[in-house]
Amino acid sequence: MATDLQIAVRKVSSVNPATGTVLRELEGASEAEVQAAVARAHAAQVAWAGVGVWRRIAVLREFQHRLHARKSEIAEAITQEAGKPVAEALTTEVLVVLDAARFLIDNAYRLLRDEPVPHGNLATKLKSGRLVREPYGVVGIISPWNYPFSIPATEALAALVAGNAVVLKPSEFTSLVALELESLLHAAGVPENVFQVVVGDGATGAALLHSRGGPGIDKLVFTGSVATGKRIAVAAAERLLPVVLELGGKDPMLVLDDADVDVASSAAVWGAFLNAGQTCLSVERCYVHRSLYDAFLKACVAKTKKLRVGHGLDRETDVGPMIHERQLQIVESHVDDAVARGARVLAGGSRFPELGKNFYQPTVLADVTHEMRIMREETFGPVLPVMAFDSDEEAVRLANDTEFGLAASVWTRNRERGERLARCIQAGTVMVNDVVSCFGISEAPHGGVKSSGVGRSNGRFGLEEMVRLKYLDSDLMPGMKKVWWYRYGASFARQMEGFIDFQFARGLGQRVRGALHAAGVVKRKQL
Ligand code: NAD
Repeated sequence: MATDLQIAVRKVSSVNPATGTVLRELEGASEAEVQAAVARAHAAQVAWAGVGVWRRIAVLREFQHRLHARKSEIAEAITQEAGKPVAEALTTEVLVVLDAARFLIDNAYRLLRDEPVPHGNLATKLKSGRLVREPYGVVGIISPWNYPFSIPATEALAALVAGNAVVLKPSEFTSLVALELESLLHAAGVPENVFQVVVGDGATGAALLHSRGGPGIDKLVFTGSVATGKRIAVAAAERLLPVVLELGGKDPMLVLDDADVDVASSAAVWGAFLNAGQTCLSVERCYVHRSLYDAFLKACVAKTKKLRVGHGLDRETDVGPMIHERQLQIVESHVDDAVARGARVLAGGSRFPELGKNFYQPTVLADVTHEMRIMREETFGPVLPVMAFDSDEEAVRLANDTEFGLAASVWTRNRERGERLARCIQAGTVMVNDVVSCFGISEAPHGGVKSSGVGRSNGRFGLEEMVRLKYLDSDLMPGMKKVWWYRYGASFARQMEGFIDFQFARGLGQRVRGALHAAGVVKRKQL
């Protein structure tokens, strides 16, 4: 939900989306409280950067150990507040964070240490260059409700290991999970002011972004909708605040004529209904070669009808509730629009009031077209819209006919063909023969193109987002005046022509003549 940048700070209620029970009411942090948190973070960050990367890695190891010990408890806390089945909370949240910690524990020292920069130009050979990676200072993180643990945790771990302090503004719908993350990090040894959570809605997020009257945050990592992301980009531009924007998706799945229908249909059903379809990497558009279309739909419908919809805490549940009424209304309006324009509902297609007010039935739609909202706007609900295509070229054209570009998948028995098509798809990630699991590959960069965002999280490139790059150069002949300094003159210009010829001329003769001309430079009188 996009919110105005300046609105009154409200109380936030944490609600179990399956039952509607209010879990806790919290006071949203005011602008002054956000400023104070940022100021405390600045003061604490210096010492945190000073402890060195090995100490910070040891803290991550302790965090990993404590999270492992509390894995089921944390998964249940996620289910209580976000609704997803406990098994999903374990795999897509707890496991992802444990493994992100593993990646940073194993690689942060290597990736953050100084990196030599050898010089190729002869004029700069007598200098030693290095890349130095320095923490930004205070990194602000604003996160959504759909992965309330794995998204802020993976981003925060990378920021912290690089020596930054973090102020996290979690989604107003999942504050309690963020507070669990805070207590785990503090117990593991992250100083209190080095990782702070400020709860609240969009107004609290806006306060973090603006940081009026103080030093403010040094970088913002935002994950959320395209609408909010665009507002944030405008506000950040005014301050020239560097941002990472991880935004929405409309991920296509391309099932080619040689795909395994059984495997691909299982993937489509899981990819579309995982977390009740509320995943940025969900299968939101499915394109199937016409020769497999009927068989594929039949398999999807049969598998969808076997799914057990229910409360996430029930270990038998496959699909839980959606987060709130507003999200259900978007899904309903997309399905209604598709049906009005000729789509066929093969499974589901309506709410599930017997289970509670936030439940929507896993839905399979056939014969959708690009004129329908369901194929153009992010639905973010348990709907699998399927459309036929006739050639690989058409499939790629349809996949790219969108403002989004987060991820995509290609399904084929021919890996080479799949990878060839993958290169033609405009997306941050393309998987051949799998969906969604790219977020669980801690080595892989995550992020989008087009309206799906800028910058990357996770892996090497996610860690690089948490540091400023400084180029450090030491002259190896400090007692020598550099030949390119004053004074100039006609002979110096000739010497430089010779020097350029010596390095770049094609013919050997011209190179040798150039070297002879250039040699005079050593006898030049300088200021
Ligand atoms: P949202 O944009 O409504 O809210 C995201 C966060 O921004 C929340 O914490 C919210 O309080 C805050 N916010 C709202 N207005 C703000 C403002 N003006 N200034 C600062 N902060 C503000 O998104 P949502 O509904 O929480 O999440 C769902 C969206 O997130 C979907 O579009 C989904 O695709 C996207 N998402 C993307 C990724 C990714 O990695 N690309 C991952 C998960 C979710």
